[in-house]
Amino acid sequence: MTPSPEHQQGEAWYSPDIDRVILSADDITSKTAEIAKRIDADYADVGGLLMVGLFKGAIMFMADLARAVNIPVEMEFMALSSYGQRATSSGVVRVLKDLDTDIRDRHVLVVEDIVDSGLTLSWLLKYLPSRGPKSVQVASMLRKPKALESSLDVKYVGFDVPDEFVVGYGLDYAERYRELPFVGVLKPSVYGG
Ligand code: 5GP
Repeated sequence: MTPSPEHQQGEAWYSPDIDRVILSADDITSKTAEIAKRIDADYADVGGLLMVGLFKGAIMFMADLARAVNIPVEMEFMALSSYGQRATSSGVVRVLKDLDTDIRDRHVLVVEDIVDSGLTLSWLLKYLPSRGPKSVQVASMLRKPKALESSLDVKYVGFDVPDEFVVGYGLDYAERYRELPFVGVLKPSVYGG
């Protein structure tokens, strides 16, 4: 699979770092439209949705999903940390930025970039109900194999990806590569793997 055409002219700056592209910008756009249709149908009768995006990885998916749905949405963000600047989980969840709004009686859709061990999400799914929302569901653009072993309920999943370190479409390594419009596997040599 190749990156979108505008990224094919000459050697792109990221080429030496990316092992291969696994999801093109087009793949992502059509999957987002599919998920948005399901969300429109599921929430048609409740009059709107509060999307809670997880900084920073979910920003691209959140922005695209919010524009793809055809129901009113409000957007909130939380920042949780479990990875730091490394390519393996540290197993610790810290709240770096909490919600700015009251979610009581709201229909909440948590928007995630990727679910791996599910540690971040399972923590969040215990935390949010204490704030009294009417419902909480999860949309994640990507899911890794480990997530399937957990009992986590991720209602809307874009793609299952292999157990490799991926970057692009919001996902970083040490704050780099988020802006890439596709999802690619980072060469282990970049993070010393
Ligand atoms: P979990 O708690 O499910 O193990 O990890 C969730 C978070 O870890 C994601 O929101 C993401 O920020 C980060 N993460 C997990 N796998 C990857 C990956 O392959 N690439 C990048 N860039 N981040 C990942």
